[in-house]
Amino acid sequence: MKTNFDIIVIGVGSMGSSTCYQLAKQGYEVLGLEQFDIPHDQGSHAGQSRIIRKAYFEHPDYVPLLQRAYENWKQFEAAANTQVYFPTGLLYAGQPDDVLIKGVRASAATYQLDVQSLSRAETKKRFPTFQIPDSYEVLFEPDAGFLTPERCVTVYTDQAIRLGATVRAKEKVLEWKKEGERMVVKTNKGNYQCQKLVITAGPWAGQLIPSLHAKLTVTRQAIAWVNTQQPASYALGNFPCWLIDDHTRPGMYYGFPQLPVAQFGAPIGMKLAYHYPGDVSQPDQVSRVTSVDDEEHLVEALHRFLPNAYAATHTMKTCLYTNTPDEHFVIDFLPGYDQCVAIAAGFSGHGFKFVSVVGEIMADLATKGKTDLPIAFLNAQRLQH
Ligand SMILES: Cc1cc2nc3c(=O)[nH]c(=O)nc-3n(C[C@H](O)[C@H](O)[C@H](O)COP(=O)(O)OP(=O)(O)OC[C@H]3O[C@@H](n4cnc5c(N)ncnc54)[C@H](O)[C@@H]3O)c2cc1C
Repeated sequence: MKTNFDIIVIGVGSMGSSTCYQLAKQGYEVLGLEQFDIPHDQGSHAGQSRIIRKAYFEHPDYVPLLQRAYENWKQFEAAANTQVYFPTGLLYAGQPDDVLIKGVRASAATYQLDVQSLSRAETKKRFPTFQIPDSYEVLFEPDAGFLTPERCVTVYTDQAIRLGATVRAKEKVLEWKKEGERMVVKTNKGNYQCQKLVITAGPWAGQLIPSLHAKLTVTRQAIAWVNTQQPASYALGNFPCWLIDDHTRPGMYYGFPQLPVAQFGAPIGMKLAYHYPGDVSQPDQVSRVTSVDDEEHLVEALHRFLPNAYAATHTMKTCLYTNTPDEHFVIDFLPGYDQCVAIAAGFSGHGFKFVSVVGEIMADLATKGKTDLPIAFLNAQRLQH
């Protein structure tokens, strides 16, 4: 069994699968180690769909990375001969001074992105099923949509293996260390060595990177799929993704069109969720059982913003966020390891759309010791304060 590699990637989930792909594509000997199945539903990449958008309310500095992410998704779809990005447009709503509306406007203005401001009459005409409070502003980003996360992780991993990567699932990394010039990785099944290590461990990053442990907070997020009263009105092709900054509480509600099961698989129904850190938990101890409170919270929001949509709850699931204190990612070398360890962590519930570009960045860091993509604002040093 081969035990020496150029690069080892710990965690073959969202970020790790695209990193393995990028490295294998460039001809490096890469080993990806994943503790569970690929994909699985214990981390952050389960749940059928993830929104992708460019007018980034979180900060305009993400926009160049998103522009590259869009290009990379397109190239990846062509290389793998599959579709993982589905354009639907995205409706934003919130009070003019809310984080969402101000942030979308700022990113759109800085990078001349196509974001349309809709009057009440236009909103009613184009999106008749929404009920938006009078004090809210409505924006629409046509070049937005959703990705299919399980398929992305699966296809990235499959393509990486076809390109020569070694990927071992059901193998948990127990410890890693630097020994001289080499990195040494110990799992529950064996020992490996490499020149460079990439850690993309999602909710387990704090366990594998002690210096980040106190800075990363894992939270439990609930998601619902509901059957609708007029399925055609909410079907893919007739209905957008949406993100509403509800002024009555912190955070935002968001949702997707109802996806055809024959094409996308289970769950049945229209998905909706709440973007705000949930109960703090540990990735190995989190309660995966959903409660009546989880359900009522989401259904109540649906009743307010899409009053005629709800017919019945079909499925409830949980998923994990890994939050940094400022809710910005950490993509950097791990301080103290002479650029031998690159980390991508703390995606704070908004990382999936970046998977295609994070893989490229991690491959750059591991093989060139630098990247031309603008990631300085995501440095690890800022968390030391
Ligand atoms: C409910 C929900 C909704 C979301 N919605 C969106 C959205 O609409 N748009 C968006 O852009 N983002 C969204 N996100 C965020 C996005 O999904 C995450 O930011 C992203 O999946 C994080 O990727 P990751 O690679 O860090 O984690 P993961 O995908 O969980 O991958 C980490 C992997 O590392 C493995 N691992 C950990 N420790 C070890 C070990 N010791 N040995 C071996 N393997 C190990 C894990 O098993 C896991 O497979 C959402 C997240 C959730 C939970």
